[in-house]
Amino acid sequence: MTDTPLKLFNSLTRELEEFIPVHPGEARVYSCGPTVYNYPHIGNMRAYVFADILGRTLSWKGYDLTHIINITDVGHLTDDGDAGEDKMEKMAAQKAQSIWDIAKHYTEAYWADVKALNIREPAKWSVATDYIDEMIDFAKGIADKHCYELDSGLYFDVSTVADYGRLARAVTEEGEGRIDTVEGKRNAADFAIWRKTPAGETRQMEWDSPWGKGAPGWHLECSVMGEKLLGFPFDIHTGGIDHREIHHPNEIAQNQAFCGCGGLDEATHSGAKIWMHNNFLVERSGKMSKSSGEFLRLQLLVDKGYHPLAYRMMCLQAHYRSELEFSWEGLGAALTRLKRIVMAVERLKDAASGAPDHPKFAPLREKFAAAMADDLNTPIALVALEEALAVKKVDAGVKRAVIEEMDAVLGLGLVDLSRGDLRLRPRDATITEEEIEAELIRRKEARVAKDFTTSDAIRESLGEKGVEVMDGDPLGWDWKL
Ligand code: AMP
Ligand code: ZN
Repeated sequence: MTDTPLKLFNSLTRELEEFIPVHPGEARVYSCGPTVYNYPHIGNMRAYVFADILGRTLSWKGYDLTHIINITDVGHLTDDGDAGEDKMEKMAAQKAQSIWDIAKHYTEAYWADVKALNIREPAKWSVATDYIDEMIDFAKGIADKHCYELDSGLYFDVSTVADYGRLARAVTEEGEGRIDTVEGKRNAADFAIWRKTPAGETRQMEWDSPWGKGAPGWHLECSVMGEKLLGFPFDIHTGGIDHREIHHPNEIAQNQAFCGCGGLDEATHSGAKIWMHNNFLVERSGKMSKSSGEFLRLQLLVDKGYHPLAYRMMCLQAHYRSELEFSWEGLGAALTRLKRIVMAVERLKDAASGAPDHPKFAPLREKFAAAMADDLNTPIALVALEEALAVKKVDAGVKRAVIEEMDAVLGLGLVDLSRGDLRLRPRDATITEEEIEAELIRRKEARVAKDFTTSDAIRESLGEKGVEVMDGDPLGWDWKL
């Protein structure tokens, strides 16, 4: 099932490429992690569901995976160029708290979402502020040949490396799409690798450096942690598609400078062999922006009665390179689909697990493998799993083994889920599950006695409490809040 060669879309070449590891038998992956100045929104979490699917696929293919996800607790400005304030400093000032407390709180909140979405822990969560000395060393190594100093900091001159911006494919000589706010930059696309603390100011986070007190630029941390923890070149670098425009081209330029490498016709000069980007989760009403009061966090979904894994299901239903539009209806449909699968898997739970390689399942295991090997085509892989569940007249233990094998890649945790787990109580619900069940029994008795007045009255009174009774629900789901 795992022999189909794995093909992945490399954003750097804009082509599907076969995955051939740098170190035989291994896969080394770096994923740009969250900036922990606020709760992650569910769009951010799409990036980690994607990185998780990639990691699970590499493990399933038999590679020894080393996955790094960083935690950005310094350096990320409110604008991805060099304009604006430091996101962390800004939030700390707003909340009148220390940056370290802000970082701790939101890192933990992020980890809670990671867990709720069945995202596997990486080999290491690398925290940017743990690598300040290494960042200064890295910067010192490239400063002479590639950087220049201004009053505001040390800047990287993008004209000193070949093929700058190839990843973005949109950068012109004028640095299209950028805001050139820094006086004295040689090229509009030049970026800070060290930002000096302005005279007369103190920052909560600042360190001494050869260029004065200050803090590293955001792009520097990923170059440094990628190199330190995985070595250049490593196999795969991931991030959301926005990173294809500024953050990753800048990381690549730094990496080229560090290696003393030439142009990007040789992809490994970029520091990684393959650069992969997930497309965005979009939402029309703007609730995903962290600056608007209530934004779409995973907890909001849970408060409204949607199990977090319904959101994982929603992500899997789209290819990672397609835009995915969020809607509550779409999330509801994903939950229903997950419920159906979980109910079918529940029937297999008591069976002793068999061996999956039964001829009846061969074509579906093949279909699943081909889908995942084709640039992680989870929508088709999901269909293969559902078709496997529907196979008739086959030993339950064998079927269970096939489902477990597929689910190890999709990460829904099907065998551990029950129908009851998926029925969450919305936070504003005023009635308990026991009360609902008791009312439904009373209603059933009334219907048996053909007392439809009582039966309708119970239905109506439940409706007033936010419970929708679903007569004849094919899922046997009876009611929902
Ligand atoms: P940040 O915490 O802002 O650095 O973002 C964390 C990750 O989420 C990055 O990989 C971003 O590219 C990604 N990201 C941001 N917004 C979205 C979105 N709406 N959909 C999918 N990924 C996103
Ligand atoms: Zn990064």
